[in-house]
Amino acid sequence: MNIVVCVKQVPDSAAKVVVEEGHITWGDAPLVINPWDEYAVEAALQKAKEHGGKVTALGLGKEEETEALKHALAMGCNEAIMISDPALVRIDNLAAAKAIAAAIRKMDEVDLVVFGKQAIDSDTGMMAAQVARLLGLPALTLVSAIPALDPDSKTIRVVRSIEEGKQVVEGKLPAVISVGKDYGEPRYPSFMGIRKAARATIPVWGLEDLGIEAPSPVVLWSEVMNPPVRDVTTEIIEGETPKEIAEKLADKIMAEKVI
Ligand SMILES: Cc1cc2nc3c(=O)[nH]c(=O)nc-3n(C[C@H](O)[C@H](O)[C@H](O)COP(=O)(O)OP(=O)(O)OC[C@H]3O[C@@H](n4cnc5c(N)ncnc54)[C@H](O)[C@@H]3O)c2cc1C
Repeated sequence: MNIVVCVKQVPDSAAKVVVEEGHITWGDAPLVINPWDEYAVEAALQKAKEHGGKVTALGLGKEEETEALKHALAMGCNEAIMISDPALVRIDNLAAAKAIAAAIRKMDEVDLVVFGKQAIDSDTGMMAAQVARLLGLPALTLVSAIPALDPDSKTIRVVRSIEEGKQVVEGKLPAVISVGKDYGEPRYPSFMGIRKAARATIPVWGLEDLGIEAPSPVVLWSEVMNPPVRDVTTEIIEGETPKEIAEKLADKIMAEKVI
């Protein structure tokens, strides 16, 4: 099986992301693999182990921002490819999807394309569906398990986790799936994997390699702003015993008509 897993590099979830002079910044905080994409890598590696084949990690971003791809390699992916081009900056989801779809088209006979459920920075959760649409493949989103996958009959059955419960969905391969965190804990990168990833040379594919024109964005971020500062006051309730503190707290909550 030939599996592609898409991984995005995002600011660490502990970073303080703010808008300064109209631009988003996270200071010196490190960039890491999008946490949802670790579940996607785990799913891809499990399926490659069960059915044989290889897993290619695919990223789109700045050429030097390879942490997410190296993390995927350290987890066990066989190879990694970075899509990067000066014309691919500040692009919207559709333009990014066009570049990712073009890279997948350039690869040999991909059976399964795996995405994380969403990226924790831009958060649209649309990329899997957009790429599936561009490639003309079925999109099976919010996957929590893959109980059946048969590369010979080219079929896949997945369990989707949706608000109302679970849903079993079948489709044809090649297919695009997006994976949620109830898929199961992603593995830690192994020591050997980290060493392999550190030495890896990651090929960079620009627009010319992909054979496409610079895709124009259709959604523009005309303004980004910090959330309004909330007027919060904190009061420490003192008392001799926990019971006394709890009683004072209960009185205050009732006086404020919170309950
Ligand atoms: C400086 C800057 C300016 C931007 N300006 C705009 C703008 O004007 N308009 C606009 O609409 N968007 C803009 N974006 C957002 C950018 O287009 C999105 O980051 C991109 O479209 C991916 O969308 P998402 O993060 O919502 O991914 P989601 O759809 O939430 O991600 C789902 C999954 O797709 C995969 N994925 C997503 N992105 C990548 C990637 N880069 N490489 C590999 N896999 C990926 C991952 O598996 C991820 O889990 C801007 C981003 C930056 C950094």
